[in-house]
Amino acid sequence: MKPIPYGHQDINQADIDAVIEVLRSDWLTQGPTISCFERKVAEYCGAKYAVAVSSATAGLHLACLAAGLGEHDSLWTSPNTFVASANCGRYCGAQVDFVDIDPLSYNLSVTELENKLIQASTQQKLPKVVIPVHFAGQSCDMAKIAQLAQHYQFTVIEDASHALGGSYREQKIGNCAFSDMVVLSFHPVKIITTGEGGMILTNRLDLYEKLLQLRSHGITREPQQMREASHGAWYYQQIDLGYNYRMTDIQAALGISQLTRLDQFVARRHQLVARYHQALAHLPLILPYEDTEAYSAYHLYVIQLKLNEISQTRKQIFDKLRAANILVNVHYIPVHTQPYYQQLGFKMGDFPQSEKYYGAAISLPLFPSLTEVEQDTVIHAVQQAIIA
Ligand SMILES: *Cc1c(COP(=O)(O)O)cnc(C)c1O
Repeated sequence: MKPIPYGHQDINQADIDAVIEVLRSDWLTQGPTISCFERKVAEYCGAKYAVAVSSATAGLHLACLAAGLGEHDSLWTSPNTFVASANCGRYCGAQVDFVDIDPLSYNLSVTELENKLIQASTQQKLPKVVIPVHFAGQSCDMAKIAQLAQHYQFTVIEDASHALGGSYREQKIGNCAFSDMVVLSFHPVKIITTGEGGMILTNRLDLYEKLLQLRSHGITREPQQMREASHGAWYYQQIDLGYNYRMTDIQAALGISQLTRLDQFVARRHQLVARYHQALAHLPLILPYEDTEAYSAYHLYVIQLKLNEISQTRKQIFDKLRAANILVNVHYIPVHTQPYYQQLGFKMGDFPQSEKYYGAAISLPLFPSLTEVEQDTVIHAVQQAIIA
């Protein structure tokens, strides 16, 4: 049997044709296809501005810089995320701290966030940036986070790497209604792909202009942004220290083509999720919780083993599934337990909910082109692994 991965891109002939068309055109790197992709994603999400970048990691870095995050500041995020959501703070020289997760949604807990803010405000240690991560594609409690942001004056950057195509309170994730910026990822395992790639959405013109500059070396060609009169049509000025975080037109063409199937992808994920829910309901598992205010993009289908009802460890069950060629995975190793963060002073026990969750979690295969026959193989293997 062919191994079944936990996630996989869906590439069709139209995607391939779109890429070839750009290869035959005059523009390979940032050109008209980028602007078109940006417009389409902004329109889909309901945001004013979009900036395509080389990855979500680059997007998080630029978003932090645009928020003015620096050495004397701190950034808070969830420990249940990919390391990039925290590393972006370190790139800016800021301190990073975490807010433990809600045991139901596995998202950053707003109760914990509020308690930590109350404490931090008495010590003048409030964060400059908070990055809620929409884990597995399900939105965080953004209304509450926005309310806290108002009160405690921090910038909110949503890490929506899992969540494109999902919604919150009937509105698309990415509309920035409750945040300053939203970052998307187009890595192949995510909801749509550009190979590598990411995007930052915002409704604020000041942030948009800053992000455009930082994406390309801190350089501007706009005479009104220059510190002195332009020397001529060739002239540009570097007014800040930026990067080369540009996406290529080749990637953007793939993105535009993928975007036309985004809703289909998410609907298919939901179909498969409904089948998992039904088939796994009787097993000693905690299945994904669904918040009534959110429509998840379902990037991941995570089961938690009820280890007190199973006479095996998570590792034993995981290994059995891998041996059966089901390429299950675990999302995520709590970021604060990584050696790099331990060396900064974090330790096991600091965020117990995320650690407890990590000890029991397994991500099952979920992607649009997963067939029902393949899914049944996964379901059967999970049943076998748990019962035996
Ligand atoms: C994938 C991912 C990233 C990084 O995305 P890249 O595009 O690979 O840089 C950041 N945050 C989360 C939550 C992710 O899942």
